[in-house]
Amino acid sequence: MTPRRLVLPAALMTAGLILSAVMATAAKTPHPQDDDPLTGVRVGLPASWTGRATPSESMEILVLAGHADSQGIEGAGTSGAAVDRGGARPMDARMRDELFWNRRVRDAVVTTGQARGLKIRSYEPDQLTIANEEDPRTNWSVGRRHHDAGGYALEIHFDAYGRHGVGSGLIPNLRSPATRIDESLALNFGRYPINFRGGLGAPRRGISILEIGKLEGQLERALRAPHSRKAVVAALALRIVEAIELGIGGTPGPATQRLSSPPDVDDNVPQAMDRRTTAVDG
Ligand SMILES: [Zn+2]
Repeated sequence: MTPRRLVLPAALMTAGLILSAVMATAAKTPHPQDDDPLTGVRVGLPASWTGRATPSESMEILVLAGHADSQGIEGAGTSGAAVDRGGARPMDARMRDELFWNRRVRDAVVTTGQARGLKIRSYEPDQLTIANEEDPRTNWSVGRRHHDAGGYALEIHFDAYGRHGVGSGLIPNLRSPATRIDESLALNFGRYPINFRGGLGAPRRGISILEIGKLEGQLERALRAPHSRKAVVAALALRIVEAIELGIGGTPGPATQRLSSPPDVDDNVPQAMDRRTTAVDG
């Protein structure tokens, strides 16, 4: 056989492969659990809670950076795939990469939210390690006080890479019924089971947890690349703020309609398993 005679069958084969790939894509029904182009895989665990409690218009939102006070101890968060698998240098030598990004997103959410008229602020413990979780300065203590005073507390996280992590999604506070803010964030990012890991430390103290995505792959690359970092953090913040706005109820939209879906059954609050939020792996 001459190379020339190979051209046609090879081209046909290539065309056939492309065609079947296109057909497979077209036939695939879109599903909420499909990977998000920015944040990657969503949580795929069964969850049937619905956030129905209506936040008051004046409800103040407190945004926390996950693991802000637990560096160097259990519950430090994930180092991310770039550092652990790729050998990259940490973004900041004093902390795991997850905290570096949690803080960036926290601050961007507050700036964006305030610019859009939300009553929203952040808390920074100003100390990377507070050994006693009941210390009044910890995220947990401050978040619990905020919740108990009638506010909404949200802690930003990135999940661990690979099989150590689960994916993006919201874990609602367990100290009171889930709100429509929780519902809106779950519709946008994914929905964790209400009793994930037996009830994590933060939700048991009235703090909802948002896992933005696994700290790996496209999301982590786009965060780490200096030319795209700012835009990615801004896009994540805007997505979070818009979801909060929909939950508060100012803007009618598709998500608002879905908020009034019929009740589900699995709203039971679990028994205790008191460990630091996502202790080992983010
Ligand atoms: Zn975390």
